[in-house]
Amino acid sequence: QVRLRFAPSPTGYLHVGGARTALFNWLLAKKQRGTFILRIEDTDVARSTQESVDAILQGMEWLGLDWDEGPFYQSERFPVYKEFVQKLLDSGKAYKCYCTAEELEAKRDLAFKEGRKPKYDGTCRNLPAGALDDRPHVVRFRAPQDGVTAFDDLIKGRISFNNDELDDLIIQRSDGTPTYNFVVVIDDATMEITTVIRGDDHVNNTPRQILLYEALGYPVPAFAHVPMILGADKTRLSKRHGATSVMAYRDMGFLPEAMVNYLVRLGWSHGDEEIFSKEDLIEKFNIEQVGRSAGVFNPDKLLWLNAHYIKTGDEKRLADLLAPFLADKGVDLTGGPDLIQVVKTLQERARTLVEMAEGAVFYYQRNFVYDEKAVEKFFTPDTASLYRLLIGKLSELDTFDHDSIESVFKDICGEKGFKLGQIAQPVRIALCGGTAAPGIYEVMAVLGKEETCLRLERAAA
Ligand code: GLU
Repeated sequence: QVRLRFAPSPTGYLHVGGARTALFNWLLAKKQRGTFILRIEDTDVARSTQESVDAILQGMEWLGLDWDEGPFYQSERFPVYKEFVQKLLDSGKAYKCYCTAEELEAKRDLAFKEGRKPKYDGTCRNLPAGALDDRPHVVRFRAPQDGVTAFDDLIKGRISFNNDELDDLIIQRSDGTPTYNFVVVIDDATMEITTVIRGDDHVNNTPRQILLYEALGYPVPAFAHVPMILGADKTRLSKRHGATSVMAYRDMGFLPEAMVNYLVRLGWSHGDEEIFSKEDLIEKFNIEQVGRSAGVFNPDKLLWLNAHYIKTGDEKRLADLLAPFLADKGVDLTGGPDLIQVVKTLQERARTLVEMAEGAVFYYQRNFVYDEKAVEKFFTPDTASLYRLLIGKLSELDTFDHDSIESVFKDICGEKGFKLGQIAQPVRIALCGGTAAPGIYEVMAVLGKEETCLRLERAAA
């Protein structure tokens, strides 16, 4: 039974990179029918905020990444960490260090001056236990000073570090609070995590963490360090490249399924396939197939996927998602056409819900101004009489649908020797305000006979 976790630090919103890490964990848990745990790493009290916790939970929910256990909060687990510090002290695998910050700094400066890599020199390593107990102290882990610590990363392959490069890690600060690398190990060990999938900015922490597992007598989990995400200019993805918050993409009108599909493809592939539903992914995803090189964030690709999901999406669901975007624009849906029917006319054209909302406004607002350029191009002295002719014929229709409307247009073309566009474009302007609009018969059918004729009359006047 695999157990995986996503362990964000709540110091900001859910970042695209974090969301991808969460997704990989979630997928693997689902695929192997294991457990997915959410753990909030809020030991850095100064930088952690409730607002950020909420933003992360909201992002996870939006993407549909549900967790089986948690959220656990590290800030609520300090007694657990204390207990483990004590255990290590009791077994001699950790020791109290009384060196002051000034002393350590002086030693560091000296090391730099002499061209050495600074490293704790072990002054307090061999003090008799209890010698100076009442003085302020940190607790350090007694790390092995020789040998090698290595692991087989599921993505990067074998990675090894010489132990003599690793410091005697501080596991508890002088104020009694535990440090980051220590609490991660205690949590992963006690939560029985079997595979740790996380960003590769943590690779250097891994050997220190492995040594702690070993000292505590816990099995070492498997590790998969996911390469970071870059912007188009190959620097680390940041605000300069556009939005990096997952929720910003929701606000820009992206669908969560497009985001999920995009994120997983950012570093993972399966032949030439581009479109993956969550169910596909649960079946096909494999952490070993995540590439070793960094993924480059490509907003056009995301937009393309979003357009696909809008085109093929369920119109009822899209209508539900679209409604708030229209409300934001101050559009009142009451008395207007059924939003589901409106959505159907726009699915082919809109790449985002924002574009769809823009395209839907005319259905609900009658008194728009006509696009000047379109008027110039398509209005003739006969346009008003064309509208009147059309009103007359449309009024006689018993059923007002795509086919009956089309036959009216064909009649007029036959009678007057017009080409379809000569009628369709001015009608589009009358009904929608401009010529960039969905198919004219669909628009008319959705507007209904009465509203269509009202708009034609207004334009004829
Ligand atoms: N809290 C860490 C972060 O947000 C993750 C640590 C881990 O996954 O081990 O970067």
